[in-house]
Amino acid sequence: MNQQDMTTSSAKLLISACLLGDPVRFDAQSKPIHSKIIHTLKQQGRLIKACPETLGGLPTPRPAAEINHQLIVTTHTGIDVTHEFQRGAAATLAICLEHNIRIAVLTEKSPSCGSQLVYDGSFQRHLIDGEGVTTRLLRKHGILVFNQFELEQAHAALLLIS
Ligand code: SF4
Repeated sequence: MNQQDMTTSSAKLLISACLLGDPVRFDAQSKPIHSKIIHTLKQQGRLIKACPETLGGLPTPRPAAEINHQLIVTTHTGIDVTHEFQRGAAATLAICLEHNIRIAVLTEKSPSCGSQLVYDGSFQRHLIDGEGVTTRLLRKHGILVFNQFELEQAHAALLLIS
């Protein structure tokens, strides 16, 4: 098997675009992580990035949003953006299916990408156990979702299926 074949047959990792430095967060900032694992996977062409909220049609910058216990996502001004978040989640899932992605590293605390903690919809900076809209959908389809602090676990899982 040549190098090209090895690359294309290696499992790919989905990653939140803001973690790769794309300024796509609600405040038009990014949240870049500096890691040898990410650097190596990037060089190997094994990273597929996505921003569910922009895929869902939301602009950047955009109002901050939070997800409540009923899984409704609203902005701090009370606008219901659940539909846009769901559309972005579906688009992200489609990307995963297209690339046969089984592992994702998504940004913790985001109402789209959070995998352990989210803000509870009160806009009081109150964190609760929970997951974002995209994480929920990906997990429903058997995709393992880690956060940016679990890169080593995500990498180990990726190597297992490569
Ligand atoms: Fe980052 Fe996800 Fe928010 Fe997009 S939706 S800015 S990828 S945390």
